[in-house]
Amino acid sequence: MSRILKIALDVPLATLFDYRADTAGEEDVGRRVQVSFGRRKMVGMIVALAGHSDHPPAQIKPLLHVFRDTPPLPRDILALLQFCSDYYHHPLGEVIFTALPQRLRSDQPNTPPRRLSYALTPAAPPLDDLPARARVRRKLLQHLQQTGAAPREALLALSPSAARHVREMLGLGWITQGQETRPALAAIPSSSAPLLPRLNTEQAEAIAEIQSAAPGFVPWLLLGVTGSGKTEIYLRLAASQLEQGRQVLVLVPEINLTPQLETRFQTRFPGVPVVALHSSLNDTERLHHWLLAQSGAARIVLGTRLAVFTPMPELGLIIVDEEHDSSFKQQDGLRYSARDMAVARAKQRDIPVLLGSATPSLESYHNALSGRYRLLRLTRRAVEAAQLPAIRRIDLRTQKPLDGLTEPLLQALGENLARGRQSLVFINRRGYAPVLTCSQCGWLAPCLRCSSRLVVHLREGRLRCHHCGHEERIPRACPDCGNPDLAPVGQGTQRIEDILTERFPDARILRIDRDSTRRKHALAEMLHEVHEERVDILVGTQILAKGHDFKRLTLVGALNVDGALYSADFRAAERLFALLMQVAGRAGRAAEPGTVLIQTQFPDHPLFEALQRQDYEAFAATQLAERKQAGFPPFCHQALLRAEATRLETAMDFLRQAKNRAGTDDPAITVYDAVPAPMARLAGRERAQLLVQADSRGMLQQFLSRWHAALSALKARQIRWSLDVDPLDF
Ligand code: ADP
Ligand code: ZN
Ligand code: ZN
Repeated sequence: MSRILKIALDVPLATLFDYRADTAGEEDVGRRVQVSFGRRKMVGMIVALAGHSDHPPAQIKPLLHVFRDTPPLPRDILALLQFCSDYYHHPLGEVIFTALPQRLRSDQPNTPPRRLSYALTPAAPPLDDLPARARVRRKLLQHLQQTGAAPREALLALSPSAARHVREMLGLGWITQGQETRPALAAIPSSSAPLLPRLNTEQAEAIAEIQSAAPGFVPWLLLGVTGSGKTEIYLRLAASQLEQGRQVLVLVPEINLTPQLETRFQTRFPGVPVVALHSSLNDTERLHHWLLAQSGAARIVLGTRLAVFTPMPELGLIIVDEEHDSSFKQQDGLRYSARDMAVARAKQRDIPVLLGSATPSLESYHNALSGRYRLLRLTRRAVEAAQLPAIRRIDLRTQKPLDGLTEPLLQALGENLARGRQSLVFINRRGYAPVLTCSQCGWLAPCLRCSSRLVVHLREGRLRCHHCGHEERIPRACPDCGNPDLAPVGQGTQRIEDILTERFPDARILRIDRDSTRRKHALAEMLHEVHEERVDILVGTQILAKGHDFKRLTLVGALNVDGALYSADFRAAERLFALLMQVAGRAGRAAEPGTVLIQTQFPDHPLFEALQRQDYEAFAATQLAERKQAGFPPFCHQALLRAEATRLETAMDFLRQAKNRAGTDDPAITVYDAVPAPMARLAGRERAQLLVQADSRGMLQQFLSRWHAALSALKARQIRWSLDVDPLDF
């Protein structure tokens, strides 16, 4: 009897497809296959075998090919992806093919490519013998010293002129070039273990508590102010896992955080293979790092969101750094939360998971208070002398800003400059000004494809939509009334940079935002400039809020923060608090105390009171009380049905029908009315949404399962709809 293979295909259908099992068997579950599907050839994955099919045998096709170039996806990952598919009500095939590295989504067999790598020769001079200006060479040699051998890409990432120096140093005989079929793993002959800092009492207690817990699944929430030594705890826990022969998975929110953390892990564990998995790797690197994790060769995997699905046979611990960060939630396609999947994975594998943050999400914090997670606190900065920065408010009602900057802030910047210290001016808006307006008729430059305004980018002479990417030239005159007097209103990073340049002509000012860092390596170079103290005043967006440890930075000014205080989004205050805590965390990391000045119309707002005391828990308590009163998460569980169409009415109609099909009179479930999305028009599509709320996760899930089936049966012509479980963005 020929058995049946259940195949998941990358199609938006919540079903598996039956194929004949004459060339594959039980041992092939988790392997990619090529099949004919309709008139196409497609890649799929074998997820199960079955004894029979509901389709007549004659209709069941054989496989075209079984890919045996890479090992099958292990069962635990398949189970995790199945869980993900169930939880987010998203087709398993799409989930699987979202999780796989790009190279495994294609139907090309994967042969490991040749890669160039480099190593030092005895002819290489000691670093101390290099002239001071040989910065790049020093960096390259140092890297080779630390890593033993390094792949070409790793060296090229260190500096834009690395390629030339590599060539020259090859010519000088300082380094040799080799080839490998696998990426170089850091393998350093470690003579001496790195010197470890002595843990302070809080750190030691936290670690002792984790290590004395019974083995198995425990979700830990590590609440520690910035600089309190959370990373040190990650490193110690990782060390203990490595000693026990286990692998460790570390998830971080953003790509620009990864290099620093990667270096810290690499230098802490010389000789231990550490691999990174993030979007700036090319497809080949990504595949190889993934395979190294799957084979067990890589002992530590550091990665962003998608890395949560990396196969790791000896996984012993998952760490999620900055667990509150919204970039853990994917905002399109499969809208999963990597943080939540990390917890699910730990539970499934029966291992501990550690969520770390200075400002945990209220969901996680609530879980800790209610006993579902276990809470650990670090209340002080780890470096003895490093104090928490003083946070002060500048009252915009009495201190009128000129072009966005108040006199007290300008004065503080001037003083800091005179003292030879670095300052950061933080404004979460790139470009020159958020709107362009006509002084005569009040016209505001709109994006014609979105319900939003175009942002003025004066340097480039362009107007840009930050939502859909639309661009146009800055018009010479008002298109409505012909008035040539168009004025940019409000501030963005470019304008603040200009104003500061005017005010402090001698200061070295550097702007860091998505525009100025578009070029590859630009951010790394800029950060290097900051570390080398060739910058006096930094102007930047939230790119700068995270992770970076600037030793000489002692003053932070924060502009335009008030919007979040009266936002319709109930999470806006939570986000602002987290952002400002992070921004404040940049000041005074080393011996000198830092100061943070916040310009606001609402100096008495409780958010600022809590911020001033750096008291996350006080802030969280007020927020949780408000959420409880209003019945918002974490006191309820939400799902958002989104629909988009070329006409708003089409989308609204679909949602109204969807509401009619909800068919529930359960008081624990609330199905709200369809409404246009807050940003109703995006990139030329009209969007509407419908919110569902339930008292418990279980009830929400039960409802969604039934409802999703009903929705799939609805006619959805010219409509795209999707379900967002635990939505973060509305
Ligand atoms: P976080 O991850 O909480 O921001 P880090 O682990 O980066 O904190 O620690 C902040 C700084 O304090 C780092 O420079 C780190 O090397 C240092 N540090 C951490 N723990 C200790 C300790 N026990 N003794 C001395 N320095 C420490
Ligand atoms: Zn006009
Ligand atoms: Zn737009």
